[in-house]
Amino acid sequence: LRRGARSLQLGFIATQARQASTLLYVEHNGEGAVAPATLSAAAAANQHLPGQLEALVCGSGDTVKRAAEAAARLPGVSKVWLASDASLAHPLAETHAHLLSSLATKQKPSHVLAASTAQGRNVLPRAAALLATQPVTDVVKIVDDNTFVRPIYAGNAFATVQYRPPPAIRVVTVRPTAFPLDQTAAAAAAGSSAASPAAPVEPVPPELLAPLAGLPAAKWESADVRSTGRPELGSAKVVVCGGRALKSAENFAMLEQLADLLGGAVGASRAAVDAGYVANDLQVGQTGKVVAPDLYIGVGISGAIQHLAGMKDSRTIVAINNDGEAPIFSVADYGLEADLFKAVPELIEAVKKA
Ligand code: FAD
Repeated sequence: LRRGARSLQLGFIATQARQASTLLYVEHNGEGAVAPATLSAAAAANQHLPGQLEALVCGSGDTVKRAAEAAARLPGVSKVWLASDASLAHPLAETHAHLLSSLATKQKPSHVLAASTAQGRNVLPRAAALLATQPVTDVVKIVDDNTFVRPIYAGNAFATVQYRPPPAIRVVTVRPTAFPLDQTAAAAAAGSSAASPAAPVEPVPPELLAPLAGLPAAKWESADVRSTGRPELGSAKVVVCGGRALKSAENFAMLEQLADLLGGAVGASRAAVDAGYVANDLQVGQTGKVVAPDLYIGVGISGAIQHLAGMKDSRTIVAINNDGEAPIFSVADYGLEADLFKAVPELIEAVKKA
């Protein structure tokens, strides 16, 4: 028993003594640009996690090469692992998680990190399972390399969670809106030449790619991608959000017009999505996207806690609602008690004249 205790203790010390470093899972947009959410995850690592930051970029063909070159210019990134293989052409969580975990097993980082996006939330828990560790997800604050704060109860409370004892590899997803970009990261995102010098890009060892083809993974069928030409909801600076009170898909056109005039994205409450007024990828809230734009305009939205969970960290909140008692007014910086069908067209005209 004593010998067992001693070897456990030594194992613990070995874990502690190993050099800290982070392996970042990079999302890219299929056109060679790194996703804004990944930039925030990189900022979280740079600002709050010790040691070197390496990045893994998965995909195939020219796109993944361009994404790897873009990742190599992210501030703080000391090396990019490029995984280019036909099996990685589509962002299938099974193959990406397998590769991420096998690279982590080989490189032994202290942290594996990704943004808490649909893709990050799909890949990282699978990688954590393969690494036999518990992921800590949707982190909004990194207290130290072992301790993290994450929202619970639809953002109404915050739990501080700690790995005990610390595992060899900690697997973490961070909420992008909680880790704003510093100026250099923003410059890198914009492709500025003032961004950091490029880190080396190294192909992942072929023996890590070989098993992927044989995985009993899900099969990629097709993607139905609709481009609106508007900024991505999760990273837009302005979000115009519509609720049940819009009454129809056609009426959302006026919110689209307002969003376009302000260079923003359109979002919706779950009630509007469930009613079929807009696609469900526009849902903001606990079970939708979390947004924290400079300006959020909620139109005909009551402000249920599940909706507030997705937008209450916005810098300026404007609410238009014909019920002065609507809960959304309690979080709004500016509230307009009015009929949306009158107020929104007037607002559009005012913005056009401004
Ligand atoms: P309502 O609550 O019906 O509010 C409509 C508002 O429009 C009212 O305040 C009304 O006064 C106002 N109004 C009506 N007519 C006009 C007019 N002509 N002009 C101006 N104002 C008008 N909801 C989300 O949004 N996101 C989520 O992620 C989410 N996740 C959920 C998860 C769970 C587990 C559960 C149980 C619920 C979740 N919900 C979520 C649903 C949430 O509880 C609310 O039902 C939903 O947010 C209500 O949407 P709404 O504000 O559009 O509709």
